[in-house]
Amino acid sequence: SIRVRFCPSPTGNPHVGLVRTALFNWAFARHHGGTMVFRIEDTDAARDSEESYRQLLDSLRWLGLDWDEGPEVGGPHAPYRQSQRMDVYREVAGKLLDGGHAYHCYCTTEELDERREAARAAGKPSGYDGHCRELTAEQVAAYEAEGRSAIVRFRMPDEPITFRDLVRGELTFTPDNVPDYGIVRANGAPLYTLVNPVDDALMEITHVLRGEDLLSSTPRQIALYKALIELGVAKTVPEFGHLPYVMGEGNKKLSKRDPQASLNIYRERGFLPEGLLNYLSLLGWSFSADQDVFTVPQMVERFDIADVNANPARFDLKKAESINADHIRMLDVKTFAAACEPWLRAPHAPWAPEDFDQAAWEAIAPHAQTRLTVLSDITANVDFLFLAQPVEDEASWQKAMKEGSDALLRTARATLEAADWTSPESLKDAVLAAGEQHGLKLGKAQAPVRVAVTGRTVGLPLFESLEILGKERTLARIDAALA
Ligand code: GLU
Repeated sequence: SIRVRFCPSPTGNPHVGLVRTALFNWAFARHHGGTMVFRIEDTDAARDSEESYRQLLDSLRWLGLDWDEGPEVGGPHAPYRQSQRMDVYREVAGKLLDGGHAYHCYCTTEELDERREAARAAGKPSGYDGHCRELTAEQVAAYEAEGRSAIVRFRMPDEPITFRDLVRGELTFTPDNVPDYGIVRANGAPLYTLVNPVDDALMEITHVLRGEDLLSSTPRQIALYKALIELGVAKTVPEFGHLPYVMGEGNKKLSKRDPQASLNIYRERGFLPEGLLNYLSLLGWSFSADQDVFTVPQMVERFDIADVNANPARFDLKKAESINADHIRMLDVKTFAAACEPWLRAPHAPWAPEDFDQAAWEAIAPHAQTRLTVLSDITANVDFLFLAQPVEDEASWQKAMKEGSDALLRTARATLEAADWTSPESLKDAVLAAGEQHGLKLGKAQAPVRVAVTGRTVGLPLFESLEILGKERTLARIDAALA
C-alpha cells in the first residue's frame, strides 16, 4: 500500500511551499487510501527550534491535514523525530562502511578547495575527485598519525542513474554530475544526505513527493537506496515526484523569507483553511479546465500526481483572496458567524467585551458574509454596532460631507424619525425622500448618512445596518454629526 511522508525541518515559520508539499502528499495518500507519515528532520541542532516544531504541528492541525504516523500519534516506526534516532543512523553508517559502500575521507577543506579550483581551471568536473576512495592501510595510518579526522563519504556507482520522475518523466544523471558525497560529519553527526533516505527506507516509504529544489539529491538517494537494499536495510527504491517551484513577485522564486510566503500571515488575516488549501492545490495542479473553487474532499477525490505540472507555478495573492471569499460564502451562516468570532473579541476587537451584542451580530452576519475576502475584514465592517461612537475617519468625512450635507442630514433625520423601523425598505424610502428634497439621487443622499452613522464611506448594506443599530442610536449619531 502507498506510504508517503512529509518531513520538514523545524526551522523558521511554516511557509506556503512547505504546506503545498504537505497538501500534495496528504491528498495523494488520502486519494489512494494510503498512509501519511509525518517525520521531523531535526538533526541540525543549530537551526532547529522547539518553537518551530510546535508551529508545524499546529499549522497542519489548523489546516486539517492529519497524519497516520508521526509526532503525538506514534506508529510502528517511532520515534518520528530524527534527533531521537541517532543510534539508527550510526548503525546504518557502520554497515555502509563495512559493505564498502562508503569510506573515510581525510581531505581537508583547504585541499578540497584547491583541487576543485585546479579542476575548474582545467575545464574538468569540479566535484569530489575520489581522492580517498582507495586508501591503503598505510595511508590511513599516516593521516591518523597527522591527527586528521575523517568524514564518511558515500561511494557513488560509476554508471549513470536513470529514474522516471512522476512529474517530469525520465531523467538521467551521469557520474560526473553526481560525485561521492558526505553522509557523516567528522564529529560523527549524520547529514541529511544519510538520514533522509535511511528513514524513508526504514519507514517503508513508497512515494517521495517533494519540491524541485531537492531534485539534485535524488540520484544520490537512489544510489544509497540500492546499497541499503544490498545490505538488507531497504526493500525497494521508492518512486519520486518533484513538485514545481512557486514563483512570487517579479517572477522570482518565492523564498521562505518572503513575507508573502509565511503561512501565519494568511491565518492571521482570516483565510479559511479550506480556502487556503484550495488555492495552494492550484500551485502546480488543476482541478478542471473550468473550475477553480472546490472543497478539500473534492480535491482528494480527483487528485492524481500524474496531473501535476512540471512548469513553475505563480503565486497570485488576488486569486487566493478571491477563492477564499468564495469559501466564506459557501459556509452556512452559523459556521460563518462562529468563524468570525476571534476577530470580534480581544485583541482584535477595538470595543470592550461587554459592548459586544450577540443578537446584533447574528442579525448582521448574513449581510457581512457575502462581502468579506478574509475574516479579519469583519472587525471594521461591524465596529459601528459595538463602539459607543463610530470610528473617526478623516478621509471618509472629507469625502462624504460636502456643502449641503448638513441640510440633507437634517431632512434625513426627520424622514428617518417618521419611518417604520421594522423594515429596511422603509428606511431606504426615508433617505430617498430626503434626497429628493435636495435634488440628490439615493447614492449621493446616503453617503453622508453612512459616514455619520458608521464612520466610513463603504460598508455593509446601509439600511439593514441602520435597522440593526436601531432608531435611537442612528438618530443620536446624526445629531452628533450635525453638532
Ligand atoms: N527536511 C527536508 C526539507 O525540509 C526534507 C526534504 C525531503 O522531502 O526529502 O527540506
